[in-house]
Amino acid sequence: MNYYCKYCGAKNSSIANLTASSCSRHPAGANKGKHALYEGDEKPKYECKHCGTSNSSLANLTAAPCFRHPLGANKGHHEPAL
Ligand SMILES: [Zn+2]
Ligand SMILES: [Zn+2]
Repeated sequence: MNYYCKYCGAKNSSIANLTASSCSRHPAGANKGKHALYEGDEKPKYECKHCGTSNSSLANLTAAPCFRHPLGANKGHHEPAL
């Protein structure tokens, strides 16, 4: 079982280790916070909860800006739906 960060898709086999390190894609700024646990299941395909864009990789999905982000178009990245 692997655990993923919902901001950047970082993968770790332990929640404790995942949330102990800084997130390069944290919403407050790069490395301004820790990885946060994605609480959904591992899936063959992940969809952004704001716009429905899909990608087979959480890292690739969250790498791209979201044109339907709640803060404004492209003011944040795609966020995986659970
Ligand atoms: Zn992260
Ligand atoms: Zn999106």
